[in-house]
Amino acid sequence: MTTTTLDQWRARARAAQETDRQVRRLYDVAYRIAPIGRILTNPNATADDIAYATTRIPRALAAAARLLTRPGVAEHPETPYARSFLTTAERAMNAPSTQLLKAANAARAAAAAALANNDDLQYVLFSDIEDRCRGLVDAANSRTGWTRHDHTASKTVLNHAARWGLSPDARIPRPTDDDQPPVPAHIAQEAARRTETRARCAAGIRCTRTTCLAYGAVWTHDGTGQGPFLCPGCIPAANAERAARGSAPTLHAVPGGVPADARYSVTLYNGTGPGRRTITCATPQEAQFTAETVRPFNNTGYTIHVTTTP
Ligand SMILES: [Zn+2]
Repeated sequence: MTTTTLDQWRARARAAQETDRQVRRLYDVAYRIAPIGRILTNPNATADDIAYATTRIPRALAAAARLLTRPGVAEHPETPYARSFLTTAERAMNAPSTQLLKAANAARAAAAAALANNDDLQYVLFSDIEDRCRGLVDAANSRTGWTRHDHTASKTVLNHAARWGLSPDARIPRPTDDDQPPVPAHIAQEAARRTETRARCAAGIRCTRTTCLAYGAVWTHDGTGQGPFLCPGCIPAANAERAARGSAPTLHAVPGGVPADARYSVTLYNGTGPGRRTITCATPQEAQFTAETVRPFNNTGYTIHVTTTP
């Protein structure tokens, strides 16, 4: 039997205290990193979210690795639980979701640029890539894991995105017009429909009379407030309908039309449930095109109002 001196007891107690202190630091790192790891499984994560998470996680893992080299920390009974948080975050970073979300955000930025350029083909193509990437992340979450099929589907969409220059890691330039990969037929069809809609909307805002719906309606006023958009030929008919319903004030075309500095407020509403969204547009063409192409609900309806700038 060995005897222990008081000094030896004290030294051991100090060492144990120091180990406990380092294990607490390990837990601090682990608890901070857990919610950051979950960012990488969120299908709606933005480019900033991904940049933040993919910077913070490796730093936390490096800090944890340093703490694990301190005496007694790796063997401490409470260390495996702390490590499980770090492993989860590390797995999230290396899962296909991180690459998919990077591609989704690159596609979102490219689609926004295409929208600004009125490039229907690229808008539809890049929006489709974004939707597919986020959809895969969402599907893997709902099953809490990546199947072999998910991995294959991820590779397919990531290759497709990379060929269009949407892989932020690969640093591949966007292909030139002569060097573009083939566009899937359903994407080309949807882009063509969008271009047709754009051409129709060139005439301006649609008449609100359901029996007419012609493009190029004028702004009306009834003396008390803003009236609907109607074609000049529909104004007498609309007034007759209003009179028959007993709603008196007569609609007139606003003299001079919509002021040049006015804006168009397009309200998209859910025809079968709660929810609405408003988008401001600079021209009647843009307003009508937005009303016909932005469909946030299954049964989207729209109204267009003029908002005069102060
Ligand atoms: Zn009309």
